[in-house]
Amino acid sequence: RSLAAGTYWMPFTANRRVRQDPASRLIASGRGCYYQTPEGATLFDTLSGLWCTPLGHAHPRIIEALKTQAETLDYCTGFQVTNPVTVRLADRIVAMAPDGLDHVFFTNSGSEAVDTALKIALGYHRLRGEGGRFRMIGRERGYHGVGFGGLSVGGIVPNRRMFAAGMLNGVDHLRHTHAPDTAAFSHGQPAAGADLADDLDRLIALHDASTIAAVIVEPVQGSTGVIVPPVGYLRRLRELCTKHGILLIFDEVITGFGRLGAPFAAQRFDVVPDMITFAKAVTNGVVPMGGVLVRSDLYETFMTGPENTIEFAHGYTYSGHPLAAAVGNAVLDIMEEENVFERVLSLETVLQETVHKLDHAPGVTDVRNIGLAAAIDLEPDPTAPGARGLKLFELGLSQGLLLRCTGDTVSLAPPFLATPQELRAMGETLAGLIETVTH
Ligand code: PMP
Repeated sequence: RSLAAGTYWMPFTANRRVRQDPASRLIASGRGCYYQTPEGATLFDTLSGLWCTPLGHAHPRIIEALKTQAETLDYCTGFQVTNPVTVRLADRIVAMAPDGLDHVFFTNSGSEAVDTALKIALGYHRLRGEGGRFRMIGRERGYHGVGFGGLSVGGIVPNRRMFAAGMLNGVDHLRHTHAPDTAAFSHGQPAAGADLADDLDRLIALHDASTIAAVIVEPVQGSTGVIVPPVGYLRRLRELCTKHGILLIFDEVITGFGRLGAPFAAQRFDVVPDMITFAKAVTNGVVPMGGVLVRSDLYETFMTGPENTIEFAHGYTYSGHPLAAAVGNAVLDIMEEENVFERVLSLETVLQETVHKLDHAPGVTDVRNIGLAAAIDLEPDPTAPGARGLKLFELGLSQGLLLRCTGDTVSLAPPFLATPQELRAMGETLAGLIETVTH
């Protein structure tokens, strides 16, 4: 209560109502797929934390790994020395990655991973004598974190506006790919729309390919509401990037480590980028960690070029932190032993059936899903956009669901260890709540 009465933690949330009445939103503990409030209520964790706790809370093997590592080696710099736990995790991540992505650069968050990838792209081109390639191409509605690089390539205009002075030069954005009128209620990937990738041709013609360093996209846009790319869209981007010497970066902070039933979205969509950023699920949200999977030639050029001194090269104090690495290894053990990716694919069908029961519900304008992720758009109240989403969030708390609503969109990304029954129960409760808020 004394914490709740304070104000210092509240700016963390963008939700005004939460700021006014924080006491009822405290989460006291978490076990498996559920949170408990101080009052003893239980909430199903419909978004796996913030897309980051696919194996649920307080997994005993993760707790054990953390304790053991804390007693063995609690910190070690990644400059000039390293440690076996971090090396092992890097090797395992490379083994899971698409062929060719054979180096891991560890960071502590998704935002840092994105900024690192953008720096690698710029450094690589410059050190190969192509310093004229300075432009980055993002995508409308893309979310790439809160660093200046990630904000610049991000496609959420209000997020960027206030920080114009710090934005990268020459960034442009591919047009949004989702057309609700044709792709509404998409079951998995929309079949049509690969030609939307030709928007990259427009930007290449506009800016000249020789000025473009990289294209960065989330394979499935997560934070802005599970926007699934049309079949062939990512492949077409790959072709255009290859043709014009532009690097392709997949931001897999949400999709990495199983959310789509494959280690990475790159494998689900069978398209290999030049770099993959990851974070969140790699440590099941328990300790911060992110990273970039990168081709060795890119990495070597970036790190060992004449303009980089080994003492002051790019890197973070906590890059490859042994505690995070120990947790990461435990996460991969669990994922391997419990065949988690297969489990996600079978749960995908259950989630799909569950959410698409709402296709024709009054007040629902679109329902999308892929892997263990889905989003439902509610028709906004014309006089108060966002109010229905907020109401849904509040009602969810009273009905045992912790929901993530951005505006009038609710996103779902349940834990991989949820049961089909739990997913169906979540869907039924949600359907009732949606009926209430749209009437
Ligand atoms: N990229 C993507 C695709 C994300 O979803 C996020 C976080 N939601 C980030 C980057 C930023 O990650 P972090 O919050 O760990 O900095």
